[in-house]
Amino acid sequence: MPSSSSRTYTQVWYCDNCNDGPISTALNPYCPSCGHQRCSYCLVQMIKIRSERSS
Ligand SMILES: [Zn+2]
Ligand SMILES: [Zn+2]
Repeated sequence: MPSSSSRTYTQVWYCDNCNDGPISTALNPYCPSCGHQRCSYCLVQMIKIRSERSS
């Protein structure tokens, strides 16, 4: 595997109850809008985020 640390992927999910999202799977196991717990029907996606470290 190429060790490119410039790109970071994070996993998010979309609530199948109220269609809210994207919600971080790491930070929010429950939907912040309706309180629905992430289940197998909720859509889970991996999104690419930019890491802007200018130091
Ligand atoms: Zn919800
Ligand atoms: Zn669900």
